[in-house]
Amino acid sequence: MRIRTFFLLLMLTPAVLAEGLPDLGEISQGDFSPVVERRVGEAIMLDIRLHEPTYLDDPEIRGYLNRLGSRLVAQSLEARQDFEFFALRDATLNAFAMPGGYIGVHSGLIVAAQSESELASVLAHEISHVTQHHLARQLNTQSQAQLPMLLSLAVAILASRAHAGGDFAQGALIAGQAAGIQHQLNYSRDFEREADRLGILLLDRAGFDIRGMSSFFERLQKFSRLYENNAPGYLRTHPLTTERIADIENRIRPMPYRQVPDSLDFLLVRAKIRATEGTPQDAVTDFEEQLRERKFTSEIMVRYGLAVSLSRARNFVAAEREVGELRRLKASSPLIESLAADLRKNQNDLAGALKILRPALDRYPQERGLAYALVETLLADGQTQAALRVTVDELQTYPTDAQMQRLQAKTYAALGKRLQQHRSLAEVYVLQGQLMEAIDQLQLAQKADDGNFYEHSQVDARLREIKVRQAEEVKEKKRQ
Ligand SMILES: [Zn+2]
Repeated sequence: MRIRTFFLLLMLTPAVLAEGLPDLGEISQGDFSPVVERRVGEAIMLDIRLHEPTYLDDPEIRGYLNRLGSRLVAQSLEARQDFEFFALRDATLNAFAMPGGYIGVHSGLIVAAQSESELASVLAHEISHVTQHHLARQLNTQSQAQLPMLLSLAVAILASRAHAGGDFAQGALIAGQAAGIQHQLNYSRDFEREADRLGILLLDRAGFDIRGMSSFFERLQKFSRLYENNAPGYLRTHPLTTERIADIENRIRPMPYRQVPDSLDFLLVRAKIRATEGTPQDAVTDFEEQLRERKFTSEIMVRYGLAVSLSRARNFVAAEREVGELRRLKASSPLIESLAADLRKNQNDLAGALKILRPALDRYPQERGLAYALVETLLADGQTQAALRVTVDELQTYPTDAQMQRLQAKTYAALGKRLQQHRSLAEVYVLQGQLMEAIDQLQLAQKADDGNFYEHSQVDARLREIKVRQAEEVKEKKRQ
């Protein structure tokens, strides 16, 4: 099922929404405000996180994309909202912006980018579609005649998704139909030109090589000639014409040439994506061959890819040898540290893993993957109180980190603190926008036979708060 078809959800009205489906309220033409956009995006994103099998739930890859994306967003004068970048495991070359600032990138596109500036150019283009509200403006120009068809299709798609693992054949059929309609929702030439123009500005201000945009788009266009009618997805949603490329080149020509080295994490993330595709043995063979024939631009990248592949093949000793080579090459990255710790853990050396993770997290405090690994390892080592302290500290700095919140619930469970366990779990659901589930958990917390008076009154207060919020949502739904 293609994620792109999701934005047909925009056409939904509450009357047709079955229970358990993302409830977007009434969204009609001309009524697509930034607030509504964000709500639509949040609902779709939750669905992707929970149900989309290709969603790449890797904190390192996600962390990298968000660092790269934020660097560009910081240069935008129009960006007045949060952005979230995520990856899907999909070999096709595609990237897309959903309403509300959620930007998805296919792993195929990340691997195909030959420089970090090239990858940044695609993100900059997508960010500009979001800041200019192109999706909303495009939908507002759809003819009224198409709306009923879009509506019925969107309902069918949602229904088929509602039962996970349900009727795949039907889902595929619907996806096929949706792809046809999707075609009519492609961005107009004017929007493409505007996204290119603003994208170039972002790239330049953020210190990337602006020529990355023309070189990447030219390569995408070459791909599309090979594919004939089956052009890479990116070109279908962002029609690329010779005129558009010429336009980009005209803008770039007067600007000074700038050589920008790729960050190490760009290289490592691409190696990790490759190393985690196909069978572990094929990945090992592939990287070994690159190393033997010295077919690489970065030895660090290839050795890291080989180490990840060897770890997948459960050859931990050989993988550690590669990590040793990486240290010898003076490579330093949070991705290498978490791999090194993971290899220790896999050989039942929890103390050794902790010895790597603690200083690594001090050095890269923003790296979520290291923080999760530290908590997991402390729990595995029976250091439950220490694990709890880490989750409390981390949630103070990153209060919307649902995964850390879930780890805290797990930690409370290990401590046998039932009230706190349900209370933590309730916060996970709040962060995911699932208020009914949050209420269930808080009611379980109320019934827990542990917890002191103070903790119980905190639970009561939080439950009242969430119930009010839930009631407001129901009222809003009825008003429409
Ligand atoms: Zn575009």
